[in-house]
Amino acid sequence: MRAIHHWIDGKEAAGTSGRTADVYNPATGEVQGKVDLASKAEMDAAIAAAAEAQVAWGATNPQRRARVMMKMVDLLNRDMDKMAEVLSSEHGKTFPDAKGDIQRGLEVIEYSIGAPQLLKGEFIDGAGPGIDMYSMRQPLGVVAAITPFNFPAMIPLWKLGPALASGNAVILKPSERDPSVPNMIAALFKEAGLPDGVLQVIHGDKEAVDAILDSEVIQAVGFVGSTPIAQYIYERAAQTGKRAQCFGGAKNHMIIMPDADLDQAADALVGAGYGAAGERCMAISVAVPVGEETADKLIEKLVPRIEKLKVGPYTAGNDVDYGPVVTDAAKKNIERLVQTGVDQGAELVVDGRDFSLQGYENGFFVGPSLFDKVTPDMDIYKTEIFGPVLSTVRAASYEEALKLVMDHEYGNGTAIFTRDGDTARDFASRCNIGMVGINVPIPVPLAYFTFGGWKKSGFGDLNQHGPDAFRFYTRTKTVTSRWPSGIKEGAAFNFKAMD
Ligand code: NAD
Repeated sequence: MRAIHHWIDGKEAAGTSGRTADVYNPATGEVQGKVDLASKAEMDAAIAAAAEAQVAWGATNPQRRARVMMKMVDLLNRDMDKMAEVLSSEHGKTFPDAKGDIQRGLEVIEYSIGAPQLLKGEFIDGAGPGIDMYSMRQPLGVVAAITPFNFPAMIPLWKLGPALASGNAVILKPSERDPSVPNMIAALFKEAGLPDGVLQVIHGDKEAVDAILDSEVIQAVGFVGSTPIAQYIYERAAQTGKRAQCFGGAKNHMIIMPDADLDQAADALVGAGYGAAGERCMAISVAVPVGEETADKLIEKLVPRIEKLKVGPYTAGNDVDYGPVVTDAAKKNIERLVQTGVDQGAELVVDGRDFSLQGYENGFFVGPSLFDKVTPDMDIYKTEIFGPVLSTVRAASYEEALKLVMDHEYGNGTAIFTRDGDTARDFASRCNIGMVGINVPIPVPLAYFTFGGWKKSGFGDLNQHGPDAFRFYTRTKTVTSRWPSGIKEGAAFNFKAMD
């Protein structure tokens, strides 16, 4: 049984609260480790040490901070396979998908190498007689990142790159379900040259999170997770005057127009709906074919593809399309929601419940399910299932499909499959969603753009990574300066009063 400790002041530190949480291997259902859960006192001590370490780090010039990011890129590449192995064993996702999780985080570290450029302020010469005006971006101090289980490498790295390169110290509170990779990341940052104390990884649950929220030292909170917790953190962070960006859940729709290439659309739906067992905030969970004929043909193409999906443990390598879900509770919740779909009258075309894998009978595997004729009043439409379940809602027209997207409370991602540029352009322009794909099912923006949802998928006004992240992790100071006339007026030969 592995003990997973905090990472404090540049080394592993055993927790003192006496509380731990089980960390599973979702493929076997076995508990493989115990992670420490921090008390408020432990969190407060780690925050105080981070505040001390931040002073010198914030005063280190941005180019030197960027060099730590450069080195970090090398180290993440060096240890990619080792980290992906641990990631898969705690999360359950396939090995290639775990490498993708690290890769997409690494790209934000690459972007953060640009900190010296991104942190430059503005200047105007001669704003008035003898007056110059300039602005500078300064670190906030100590900031916190609270991250979800589904991307245990990517999302911590999205926070750490911009926050650290901007000169802040960071308290990372990762998900307690797959806590080992964040510790590995912290050890690599130390090897890359990050001074001790500037990054503290404190494991925990609500008690640790509440200690962050109540801290007067923490200046900003970056959160990613489910919507109820995102909203809670956003509201509570405001009470102590913190800035907060809190990203929540999703229900991403993909519209399939009658002119779309239906083979392409079906392939895209299967990958985006069932990849990572549907445990992605950018997964497509609702297919919206436009017109009855499109819907019938699409279902016909989806069924054989879904029936061919290979579900299994990450150790089976490339032979597996997706792995188990993260916990037994998640599995039960997904299966319960599938039953509500049946009870409320949706047509269950493929039933993934009662899926069992020989040799892995205790694993948290859920087979793929496909619903047809789902309507907006059903629970499976309103709720984020976060599992391998795709719902089909048939729309009579493009406008009806667009209205579904617009009226849903979530607004993370969406996609349209069509061959018509005019429809695609209209959709991208009018929909109230943060990230839009045109013939691209999972439109996750690259590191140098920003990532963020609208409506109940995102609280706060700046996005993750890209230039927004550097704005979020710095505050602007604007200086107006005027220098009275000095020695250029000529030498003075007599004593005179200062003016
Ligand atoms: P979660 O909300 O359960 O947990 C997220 C974090 O909050 C964890 O660190 C957890 O320890 C903490 N937490 C949980 N309950 C808490 C409580 N009551 N009080 C204080 N803190 C608490 O989310 P999860 O299950 O880890 O992740 C899945 C969710 O994250 C899904 O809803 C998914 O859509 C969302 N997600 C969103 C994005 C995005 O960018 N919008 C990205 C990834 C995941």
